[in-house]
Amino acid sequence: MKYGRTYNFSAGPAMMPEPVLEEIAAEMMNYRGSGMCVMEMSHRSKVFQQIRDEAEADLRKLMNIPDNYKVLFIQGGGTVQFAMVPMNLMKNGVACYIETGAWSKKAIAEAKKYGEVKIVASSKDKNFSYIPDCSDLDIPEEADYVYICENETINGTTFFDLPNPKGKILVTDQSSMFLSRPCDVSKYGLIWAGVQKNVGPAGMAVVIIREDLIRDDLDPKVPTYLSYKTHADSDSLYNTPNCWAIYCCGKVFKYLLDMGGLEAMDRRNRDKAQLLYDFLDESKFFTGAVEKKDRSLMNVPFVTPSKEQDADVVAASKAAGFDNLKGHKSVGGLRASIYNAMPKEGVEALVEFLKKYEAEHA
Ligand SMILES: *Cc1c(COP(=O)(O)O)cnc(C)c1O
Repeated sequence: MKYGRTYNFSAGPAMMPEPVLEEIAAEMMNYRGSGMCVMEMSHRSKVFQQIRDEAEADLRKLMNIPDNYKVLFIQGGGTVQFAMVPMNLMKNGVACYIETGAWSKKAIAEAKKYGEVKIVASSKDKNFSYIPDCSDLDIPEEADYVYICENETINGTTFFDLPNPKGKILVTDQSSMFLSRPCDVSKYGLIWAGVQKNVGPAGMAVVIIREDLIRDDLDPKVPTYLSYKTHADSDSLYNTPNCWAIYCCGKVFKYLLDMGGLEAMDRRNRDKAQLLYDFLDESKFFTGAVEKKDRSLMNVPFVTPSKEQDADVVAASKAAGFDNLKGHKSVGGLRASIYNAMPKEGVEALVEFLKKYEAEHA
């Protein structure tokens, strides 16, 4: 890797594509003759307006977003969306959640503050190591929406087939898989993603919401900033937005378009994940933590036979120049996050390292 950079397997904030970082560095002191850095720019200036508008247009192109959906850039990262979704979408005060791991649990806990939550499917019985069958869910008539975390960052599962929401609005948290594969936006009422996993710097979420779900009859106590209408009516410029994140994300959108779009990313990501999963399937020392059919292409949790050996592999990997392979504190073990920006060479090098470790220690 150039610049003495390391293969960083962090779950987020995570690697950004090197050509994007180089472009940002080149524009740092004087953005295209404006005489200033994007960090120093008025969010009301023409030059920033163009950065914002291009970012939205490029995202629309990448995901083929239909015209009746709004694209919003909202601060507060992913966690604020756990509250904004129920605050804005609960009309009857009832919502269905599918419980597949740490991040859906957080969404459930937050939604319970605003209404009744029905957990219509769960993989809790096997420590969230699979995606439950969601083809025939028991969804009550009064449910306002059905919610999933489409890729569980900590547990390492992903939905390859969407649930059947039986005519209700499907809401998804795509934070750790956003733009990693093609997405049929029309199947959802609302898609949201914190951007620091697969796109840009932390502190912002992209929200893609069907226009008819944007309400003007919310409880007047809902904070102005937390109403989707506020952002939809102001092109996400109601207050000072996270200008820097919008700029960096816009660069990544352009980069992904140049790379061939989401089909091309899907092929690359499948390729990369396969290298690691093939190794785990063959290994007698390392074991993947998730049922094969539901394995995430982005976050790969695995374990050795003991906690002590887990810790030893993490330390040895760090000494060998890999970073952030420690599993999340809630589940332990190891985890390699291999988002869009992780080069194939990074995964190849990791597999070589693990093979060698196994040969020497197992
Ligand atoms: C990281 C993550 C979040 C939370 O994002 P923050 O920006 O840290 O609030 C939510 N959902 C998923 C799936 C995540 O991976």
